Amino acid sequence: MLKVLKFGGSSLADAQQFAKVKAIVEADESRRVVIVSAPGKRFSGDHKITDLLYLCAAHIKYGVSCEEIFDMIRTRYLEIVHDCGLKLDLNPDFDALWAKMQEGIEKDELASRGEYFSARLMAEYLGYEFLDAAEWVKFRFDGTVDTDATYEALRRAAGDRSVVIPGFYGVMPDGRIRTFSRGGSDITGALAAAALDADVYENWTDVSGILMADPRIVDDPAPIRHLTYGELRELSYIGAQVLHEGTIFPVREKNIPLNIRNTNEPEHPGTTILESIEEDTNDGSFITGIAGKKGFSVITIAKTGMSGDPGTLVRILEILAKHEVNVEYIPSGIDIISLVVESKKVSKCLYAMLGELQKEVQPNKITVTEHIAVVAAVGRKMAYRPGVSGKIFAKLGENGVNIRMITQGPEELNIIVGVEEKDFAQAIRVLYDSFVKEHI
Ligand code: ADP
Ligand code: ASP
Ligand code: MG
Repeated sequence: MLKVLKFGGSSLADAQQFAKVKAIVEADESRRVVIVSAPGKRFSGDHKITDLLYLCAAHIKYGVSCEEIFDMIRTRYLEIVHDCGLKLDLNPDFDALWAKMQEGIEKDELASRGEYFSARLMAEYLGYEFLDAAEWVKFRFDGTVDTDATYEALRRAAGDRSVVIPGFYGVMPDGRIRTFSRGGSDITGALAAAALDADVYENWTDVSGILMADPRIVDDPAPIRHLTYGELRELSYIGAQVLHEGTIFPVREKNIPLNIRNTNEPEHPGTTILESIEEDTNDGSFITGIAGKKGFSVITIAKTGMSGDPGTLVRILEILAKHEVNVEYIPSGIDIISLVVESKKVSKCLYAMLGELQKEVQPNKITVTEHIAVVAAVGRKMAYRPGVSGKIFAKLGENGVNIRMITQGPEELNIIVGVEEKDFAQAIRVLYDSFVKEHI
């Protein structure tokens, strides 16, 4: 039995959090591979180490001294060393890093040091061996991970040892350090779990699993006990940012269950994510979770005869593709089609694009509606259940939320409504109160 664990920044924020991690790891001897993030915030208003490292990189770029920020970083680690009673002397490493920063260090390498030092400390604290991610997470030049090479390298490097690995980074073919995008330690954990054929990938964070709605919008939302990878993908794509979206692929491919747990409440079972779920554990509601995002624009094109002419849709999408705008959703009617796009992707090219659409497609009418938010109700139990969308629209209407757009995925895993941004939080609360709260 092998469990691969990843601890997020808040789980490593100080010595007290380090102690919780140690207790969790020691509670189960199959917890032998531990991936760590850089220390996160200890309290609101505090700084994440990774943010401070990026801040140093920005100072270096503009030739401004970052000595004070660097000292803050060093002090954070030295405090953990002291408070955990560790022997490791990090000063020579910090001095060497500072010297390298004076010569001009690459941003990715500097940012990666947050996880690197965190893992060195945790390795000593747990009595595990330190295993550098640079030895096995292999990027290609295009920034994608070469999973075959990565898996093989980790199997060789880790063997049966108990190890602590820094998350968030790996190496390019030329040996340079490269990081994932923010939150990427989740991916390192997933790659390690897949490489070593782990029985479970435990992702330890500061919430007791994925909650049915964003806790910043809904008060005390219920945690989701079980979720399919498909549902998680829908929820994280549309805004439930608990895990980096690159986390799912490696574990899903190997069918390794992913268990999201709370370092501050280790006895809570959290959320378990699997390929499919037989028995019904999230009883009651047909909705598994609710999430959403602001910042969309809807381009609506009406043209008589469009439905009978397959070429029109092709021309429309080609124009968008030329401007590198991808379409999120395409709700359509007879002779009318709407394209839901991210506003920030069209802000620069909107007028040029509309001009081309006008010329090439010659529609009767084009309208653009901005400041749209999308809200999705996600749930495998919605499939083939008649009347779900009707109930959702009725509840939103009763509560004064004006629906601007509706769409549903073909596998009936989600129902998506577009609302004005001012109604965003209200829409999420109405869905939660009407379809979740009433059932628990
Ligand atoms: P870590 O540092 O452990 O990787 P993150 O900050 O990346 O943790 O992710 C956990 C956070 O995600 C939670 O503290 C919570 O504020 C936020 N979050 C947003 N939506 C949800 C949701 N639906 N369920 C749980 N947490 C959510
Ligand atoms: N420390 C990195 C970040 O803050 C990576 C991570 O925490 O997963 O984005
Ligand atoms: Mg995270």
